[in-house]
Amino acid sequence: MTTQRETLEADVLIVGAGPAGLSCALHLSNLISKHNQSGGKPVLSTENIYVLEKGRELGAHQLSGAIMDPRGLSELVPDFEKTAPLDTPVTDDAAFLLTSQSAFRFPITPPPFKNKGNYVVSLSKLTKWLGGQVEKSGVNLFTAFAGASLIYEGEGIAGVITDDKGVDKNGKPKSNFTAGYELRAKVTVLAEGARGSLTKQLVSRYKLDNLNPQTYGIGVKELWEVPDGRIQPGFVAHTLGWPMPTEIYGGGWIYGMQNKRVSIGLVVGLEYTDPFFDPHEAFQKFKTHPFLRHILGGGKLVRYGAKTIPEGGWYSMPRTYVDGGLIIGDSASFLDSQKLKGIHLAIKSGMLAAETTFEALCKGDTSAKTLAAFPRRVEESWAKKQLWSVRNFHQGFQYGLYGGLFHAAFQQISGGRGLVDPMHVHAGPEAYQKLNGRRAPAERFKGDGKLTFDRLTDVYHSGTRHDDDEPCHLVVSDPSICADQCVREYGNPCQYFCPAAVYEMTAERGENKLKINAANCVHCKTCDIMDPYQIINWVVPEGGGGPNYEGM
Ligand SMILES: Cc1cc2nc3c(=O)[nH]c(=O)nc-3n(C[C@H](O)[C@H](O)[C@H](O)COP(=O)(O)OP(=O)(O)OC[C@H]3O[C@@H](n4cnc5c(N)ncnc54)[C@H](O)[C@@H]3O)c2cc1C
Repeated sequence: MTTQRETLEADVLIVGAGPAGLSCALHLSNLISKHNQSGGKPVLSTENIYVLEKGRELGAHQLSGAIMDPRGLSELVPDFEKTAPLDTPVTDDAAFLLTSQSAFRFPITPPPFKNKGNYVVSLSKLTKWLGGQVEKSGVNLFTAFAGASLIYEGEGIAGVITDDKGVDKNGKPKSNFTAGYELRAKVTVLAEGARGSLTKQLVSRYKLDNLNPQTYGIGVKELWEVPDGRIQPGFVAHTLGWPMPTEIYGGGWIYGMQNKRVSIGLVVGLEYTDPFFDPHEAFQKFKTHPFLRHILGGGKLVRYGAKTIPEGGWYSMPRTYVDGGLIIGDSASFLDSQKLKGIHLAIKSGMLAAETTFEALCKGDTSAKTLAAFPRRVEESWAKKQLWSVRNFHQGFQYGLYGGLFHAAFQQISGGRGLVDPMHVHAGPEAYQKLNGRRAPAERFKGDGKLTFDRLTDVYHSGTRHDDDEPCHLVVSDPSICADQCVREYGNPCQYFCPAAVYEMTAERGENKLKINAANCVHCKTCDIMDPYQIINWVVPEGGGGPNYEGM
């Protein structure tokens, strides 16, 4: 049966209301307003810009450290300091090397960890504020609407089909069924963040990959409220070393915020060899270090979340334009993995995409040839300069922590070139080593319920919600591989890498079976990235589902 869909036509459709998508919408509406005021032809309307966001409200799916470099936002909203919800300016920064019991402060904070002039923010709050500016400008912004599939046309795209609402877990329409819209646009801008589900389709269909595949990290984060005087608002610390084994890329952060709040997190490179490695557990251990225990002890967990980060940088940036389409922000690898900063780059990429789109609309030509002006603009911008200077950074860490630091030192003095340029990497899951008889850990981490938590307790603190009676959005193309080959070869790493306890192997009448607790999913996309056989496909659930990262 074919579903009857209502068709809507827009000039521009932006998928994803994060910093990239919202900046694109706001800058484009500013350009259109100026153009119309000066009598420019053709007359354009901000009402013909649509933004879709799968989160139930603006900011619900924004999870970040976050320290924001204000460079992007000051170009987009020059007087942002007057109204933006900036938690606190950075007042002091430090870097520590941790062993299991000690913390050694680097005598001088290494340049990538210097943050004076930046702000500690809640990205979720900042996104809400930015979305408010976008709505005021007349743009149509729809939350709880997901782009479910792309409309392909010729060698490019012509919009998206939004999610069907009211479908039961067997795929049958319920009494509240509403078919998704066919949203057609002259330009569709994909701003879906890391491992965008539509971006993945587009990159694969038109073979847009760059020299390197995208590589990722996962960031596991908690927001805490701690007793008075434990940490200064604006004090930011980054850590290397324990609890991360030296062969795994990663590090921690501790950011002091207003109102006795602390943002803590651990980033783990998703290219480790041990299929039983558990990033959530590593993060829980991180909090038991005396340095963190001293800050957190007697405090309480406020919010939890996890999300992936594109770390591949410049050489993993896909081709960012096709006929009628652009890719921006994290989806297009605009992230400086040395500094773990992507907010300002996402904003800049959105602005450059807006300028390109505006020009294309004025010209009446939205072909790839015209939209190719986007990467040219990027080339000429400070975003390229920043990404170019760290173009080999993440790749160096495929040789472990010390190898990575060694390469990073050479790259620092050679403007990013280092000893090998370009430095190649493989996709993350290719690094897994087979078990060869090794057994799974006898016990799973439980936590003490005060300082450390199991995954289900943490998921509860992420505000995650999905309808139980909807199709599973984690589509496993061949579950028989999970039940047999993966058990033998890798011991089902999905049970360990997922920070939300979505995947569980059960035994039914002596047979292994994969159980998917899709309602727990925090939309981090780790499974789509780290499944060794690439048989898990993360597709959008019904719009409005997922976490609620309020204040994160
Ligand atoms: C743990 C962690 C810590 C970080 N720390 C920092 C930091 O300290 N400083 C810094 O500058 N950067 C940091 N970053 C990176 C920063 O968060 C990102 O670079 C930035 O958010 C990218 O913006 P974006 O708009 O491209 O993507 P996102 O912020 O991910 O926004 C994408 C939006 O698109 C929506 N979406 C996705 N697919 C669809 C779809 N099909 N339909 C509808 N909506 C969709 C998502 O729900 C989301 O709201 C961190 C990231 C993580 C994960």
